[in-house]
Amino acid sequence: MAILEIKNLSFRYKNKFIFDSFNLDIERGNWVTIAGPNGSGKTTLVKILAGLEKSYSDIKIFNKPLKKKKLYDIRKEVGFVFDTPENFFACETVEDELAFSLENMAVNPKTIKKKITEISKTLKIENLLKENPYNLSGGEQQKVALACALMLEPRILVLDESLLMIDINERDEILKLLKEYNKKKRVTILSFTHNLEEAIYSDRLIILNDGKIIIDGAFPFVFTEERIMRKIGLEVPFSIELSQKLKVFGLIDGLELDLERLVTKLWK
Ligand code: ADP
Repeated sequence: MAILEIKNLSFRYKNKFIFDSFNLDIERGNWVTIAGPNGSGKTTLVKILAGLEKSYSDIKIFNKPLKKKKLYDIRKEVGFVFDTPENFFACETVEDELAFSLENMAVNPKTIKKKITEISKTLKIENLLKENPYNLSGGEQQKVALACALMLEPRILVLDESLLMIDINERDEILKLLKEYNKKKRVTILSFTHNLEEAIYSDRLIILNDGKIIIDGAFPFVFTEERIMRKIGLEVPFSIELSQKLKVFGLIDGLELDLERLVTKLWK
């Protein structure tokens, strides 16, 4: 069942069309990565979904037209994590920032406190709770922004280059954590990125270029189209290149993005 449907989306900045008759359906419980080079329209699409840009379109979230939903209603079900979180911080401490949305919904303070403890522990940001979010590093700010989104227990999580500034080891841990949210809690994940390595746990990979979907396929089979990805300036992960070569020699039978899994396959 599609929980997000975009039909006939047209959008332009002044005279320049970014999207023209754009269509996309997202199925419930899927992790979909939308990758594309800079300028392909990723952030614009996120802003449209968040209600921050108005468009000519027929967009439905959970079968209800986006236009009829108020921003407040959308945010209760869809968690957005933007690439520049500092623009969205409103409080003087991380703790208050985490509590902010739930306080506005009049959630019981004890419940809020419990959730803050749980989520800050999961994302390893307990040491930042008393800090001013504006004074944090970019990576720390991104973790706080993700924690804020998770506080609301969203049914859909939309990530816009949200892990870009987080160091690579921590990023891998966060991707694993998101996979748990995706599988155990059935949170649908829509991740916009230019980094194909972040697609590691995706069910589906969509490549966007110039506001158009040029590749759309199941993961990781979709990497058979890697030549096109390279052509538009996307870097194809080393593990994919390696597994393609190993496949040619008959050493493995499928493509593998996860290096650890690739090594395990080789030893079998
Ligand atoms: P991405 O997130 O994939 O880098 P964007 O959605 O930011 O792509 O941008 C898509 C296109 O829209 C680019 O050509 C960009 O220059 C243009 N664009 C983005 N924001 C604005 C704006 N506020 N005014 C005019 N053009 C814009």
